[in-house]
Amino acid sequence: MPVLVMKFGGTSVATLDRIRRAAKKVGVEVAKGYDVIVIVSAMSGKTNELVGWVNETSPMYDAREYDAIVSSGENVTAGLMALTLQEMDVSARSWQGWQVPVQTTSAHAAARIEAIPSDNILASFAAGHRVAIVAGFQGVSPEGRITTLGRGGSDTTAVAFAAAFAAERCDIYTDVDGIYTTDPRVCSKARRLDRIAFEEMLELASLGAKVLQTRSVELAMRYKVKLRVLSSFEEQSDEAGTLVCDEEEIMESNVVAGVAFSRDEAKMTLVSVADRPGIAALIFTALSDAGVNVDMIVQNISEEGRTDMTFSCPTDQVMRAEAAMATAKDAGTINFAELIADIDVAKVSVVGIGMRSHTGVAAKMFQVLSAEGINIKVITTSEIKISVLIDRKYVELAVQALHDAFELEKAA
Ligand code: ASP
Ligand code: MG
Repeated sequence: MPVLVMKFGGTSVATLDRIRRAAKKVGVEVAKGYDVIVIVSAMSGKTNELVGWVNETSPMYDAREYDAIVSSGENVTAGLMALTLQEMDVSARSWQGWQVPVQTTSAHAAARIEAIPSDNILASFAAGHRVAIVAGFQGVSPEGRITTLGRGGSDTTAVAFAAAFAAERCDIYTDVDGIYTTDPRVCSKARRLDRIAFEEMLELASLGAKVLQTRSVELAMRYKVKLRVLSSFEEQSDEAGTLVCDEEEIMESNVVAGVAFSRDEAKMTLVSVADRPGIAALIFTALSDAGVNVDMIVQNISEEGRTDMTFSCPTDQVMRAEAAMATAKDAGTINFAELIADIDVAKVSVVGIGMRSHTGVAAKMFQVLSAEGINIKVITTSEIKISVLIDRKYVELAVQALHDAFELEKAA
């Protein structure tokens, strides 16, 4: 039997009624002849509640216990989904990560899947079950402890199962009906894309589009998993949603596929650091050791052997960055005049594989922002994206203006 993976996010299993709706969709695919692997998230809000309980009990928690606790939301929905399907006369069995087993690294709260042996679930299909419901987001470490894959991790569970079982497709059911050119809440002209290339989706996901966990897109790209994002609240059809696929499978596409943004960015400037070999290594090693995720980096031209080094990081890591730099300054390893934190910035990016072969995208982006009177603070580019830091209060304006200028409301 061909295998199909269907993943239901938190809003799609938020109530018993919604679980029933989701189960009906599973029933439709079973009737078509698929053996179905269903991956479920916790009911929406549940994981946040569990994380809250952990923090309240023990702010410096043991990550092994954090995982034991926050993984539990998915266990509930997996069991409920199995019961719901059984009530519909569909033979189904639930699986927790360790039972499959979903083997992961021991990096608690941020574990990576290493292997998914297929024997147990295949045996269950062979024994007549048509559906295996797997608790997403969780696995088991080599030490035999429960692990979790990081927030949003059940997307990654789903793609990993699709790869391990050579599934025909991996359908991600969520509360939006696909991937949009930008967030429709910010830009009313945002358009749903029929298809988007893995690389574009990877950029959009890592730049702040929250529909898919970045890691899941990486996996889908590596294993060429056909990934579809669609709404669990609409009627099923083979054409629904957005297909995330190889760029060869997309006939026509706009130069710019989408505009992404993230609001919680901070711009940090180390004023007057020595301009000599090794200084950047010192700074960014200290930041990385402190767990700061540095994104953009700009070094100014130097004057009399001193320079300014600017970098961006998430706003909630500013204190950690400041502490790391203060420690290094006290220890005499990094010398600087001051560290200026600008916490009112946001990142806006345009993404598209068409940029590989089209020039002028950056120029156009900068002209659009300039026409709106928006100052650009930092710029970075890759082969398929251009990102700028701007004042946070201009995010909506910037996104709308760029969406208009690149005519993203029109399909190619
Ligand atoms: N329930 C987990 C979370 O909220 C995993 C997921 O839903 O993907 O992060
Ligand atoms: Mg999610």
